[in-house]
Amino acid sequence: MSIDLPETAMHADEGKPRQCFAMSVDVEDYLHTLTLAPVIQRDSWDLWPSRVEAATMRIIDMFDQHQVRATFFMLGWVAKKNPNLVREIAARGHEVASHSFHHDRVHDLTPHAFREDARSVRLLLEDLSGCAVRGFRAPSFSIGEQCLWAYDQLIDAGYSYSSSVHPIRHGHFSRPAIPLQPFRPNDSDFLEIPVATVKLFGRILSCAGSAQFRLMPYRWSKWCLDRLATDLNRTVIFYFHPWEIDPDQPRLNGLSLRTCVQQYIGLAAMEKKLKRLVTDFHWDRIDRLCRLDGLNGTEAKVVPS
Ligand SMILES: [Zn+2]
Repeated sequence: MSIDLPETAMHADEGKPRQCFAMSVDVEDYLHTLTLAPVIQRDSWDLWPSRVEAATMRIIDMFDQHQVRATFFMLGWVAKKNPNLVREIAARGHEVASHSFHHDRVHDLTPHAFREDARSVRLLLEDLSGCAVRGFRAPSFSIGEQCLWAYDQLIDAGYSYSSSVHPIRHGHFSRPAIPLQPFRPNDSDFLEIPVATVKLFGRILSCAGSAQFRLMPYRWSKWCLDRLATDLNRTVIFYFHPWEIDPDQPRLNGLSLRTCVQQYIGLAAMEKKLKRLVTDFHWDRIDRLCRLDGLNGTEAKVVPS
């Protein structure tokens, strides 16, 4: 069952839609993607040049220039290797959240392994950032019908919300028969907050970002978001990855055409498109947009026990 959230933040600036959306970044490197998983084995991750810190810093600087605050879903592996990056994200006023440690899809883990992974990443991120970590995003939006147990495990692991559903028909993350808006997946206060979709001609289409945003002309994404902005009760979550603004990332040979399209198409134009996006709309953190920060917009600090 979907729920009514408090009215989203409003802005009075001329020339921009009045509704505020939530921006999110899944902080992983090019070598962690599901697309490249068959050719870059986990035990070789350390052998590849890391580019995630530099790309994420460019994103943070761009957000600063446009007064954007966002939610950064950190891969635990990246956080452990780049502790100063986590501290910088928190210091610049962004929400630090979890994207698992190794980018395992939820349905590939047991409930116990999933819970312990989620708990350990939360503790790591709270230790590094000094802020409470409430949000979780499953790699590849992999909380599907076969692993709804994940919500109980996330509550046990100390989380308040998940943004782990892409409610469209699409290969590995197909889950179309669920609410498009935030909903409570069980009897607790825990929230699932799906990423953005738009209904068109009876079909539900993604306008959540990442590959779709790279592939399509900017004017298409703007048209979709303008349409959503007319509904003040609509909660809109956008997302992308640092490697998507990095056209100089290592290019692997021998990939299929489909893999090349998913991983490499549109990289050179992505940063420019994102700058238009943060100019044309107002963006904030997921916890603040959904009133989950608990402190009326101030950062929730972790009190050492
Ligand atoms: Zn991811």
